[in-house]
Amino acid sequence: MFGMVRDPVCKVKIKKTEASATSEYQGKLYYFCSEKCRDKFDKDPDNYR
Ligand SMILES: [Zn+2]
Repeated sequence: MFGMVRDPVCKVKIKKTEASATSEYQGKLYYFCSEKCRDKFDKDPDNYR
């Protein structure tokens, strides 16, 4: 569906507008359900792409 993205850490689908956190990595923007997931991603982004 338009505007839906997958949290790369916990794999849940969320709406971009409802993302609690975002992070940019290598020019791509990632969306997360929570800041916890974003922190995990930031520590080891290659593990979640
Ligand atoms: Zn998450």
